[in-house]
Amino acid sequence: MSDEQGYESFLLARRAEILERIDAAARRAGRPAADVEALAVSKTVGADEVLLARRAGWRAFGENRPQELGRKLEALAALPEMAGVRFDMIGNLQKNKINQVIGRVTLIHSISSEHLAEAVSTRCEARGIVADVLLEVNVSGEASKSGFSPDEARAAAEHVAALPGISVRGVMAMAPAGDADAARATFSGLRELACELRARTGLPLETLSCGMSDDFEVAVEEGSTLVRLGRCVFDQGYALK
Ligand SMILES: *Cc1c(COP(=O)(O)O)cnc(C)c1O
Repeated sequence: MSDEQGYESFLLARRAEILERIDAAARRAGRPAADVEALAVSKTVGADEVLLARRAGWRAFGENRPQELGRKLEALAALPEMAGVRFDMIGNLQKNKINQVIGRVTLIHSISSEHLAEAVSTRCEARGIVADVLLEVNVSGEASKSGFSPDEARAAAEHVAALPGISVRGVMAMAPAGDADAARATFSGLRELACELRARTGLPLETLSCGMSDDFEVAVEEGSTLVRLGRCVFDQGYALK
């Protein structure tokens, strides 16, 4: 078997295992597994691996750097096999990179401040488009994490929801690494905040983007609708717990 075939069968088997675990976690929470989407975070692999992952069944990818997103799209977008495949922007977005992202991704997960929301909205308006976005919230309050504080999100929600160039579809958070209890508290906090923001904005805010390789099952138990999985999808050295 060639290396490529070996990697392809790894991707296939791993994907089946991940989907099974998402299914089981959804069942434990009494939720339909169909309510949970999984994004393959391709930031550490190249376009070739994305194509192999597509063949293994992945249809949605996440990138965290605009330049890398552009490189992957240039390499892949025209391929017939990539028709209907979605790319999301999940990483920190600098204002001078907004134009590299809008119109090219399905969802921007990382609207981390009111200022950024306004800037994205303005640039989308200028292009005559509306971008679907999530508000990134620093639920755990770690100094190292970006995003709205929960209080800032409450205060900004109505204004941000009314911006004409963006459509706020929900919220996103990252949990503290390596602590399952803190992860659970982060995800349930995000779910509760989404409820409050729904009441404030009148928007459905149906998307809860949370859960990564180390904590996606906990995230699904706590209501995640979109898990963002990098290492567990692509890294053969990563062992699922
Ligand atoms: C890298 C990254 C992920 C995926 O993390 P893994 O632990 O590799 O699954 C998810 N979300 C964001 C924002 C990331 O930057």
